[in-house]
Amino acid sequence: MKDRNFLNTVMEFEQQLEAIQEQFNYLKQFVAHMMEEHQTLQAENLHLRARLDELQSNEAIQNEERKSDVADIGEGYDNLARLYHEGFHVCHVHFGSSRKGEDCLFCLSFLNKTT
Ligand SMILES: [Zn+2]
Repeated sequence: MKDRNFLNTVMEFEQQLEAIQEQFNYLKQFVAHMMEEHQTLQAENLHLRARLDELQSNEAIQNEERKSDVADIGEGYDNLARLYHEGFHVCHVHFGSSRKGEDCLFCLSFLNKTT
């Protein structure tokens, strides 16, 4: 009877070892999976950083271009204001014709809008 109990204990222990082995295998698979995912995320992060750098430098270039566009508009305005002060209409109603020394409300509102 005592031997019978001992055998049962040994068999139970074996079952426990098998269960632990199974859990350990599962854990190993989990770690392998995590390492794989970590590598994928690292590669993706690197890729996204490179893309972000690219976009940021593109944006910097575009901002430079935009600044020079604003400068162009400023220059256009200066030319129109000069033309007006030289005595010509710059409004769309009488554009290019002489103001004959009179102020034109269309021209003035146009020039004010452009600033
Ligand atoms: Zn005018």
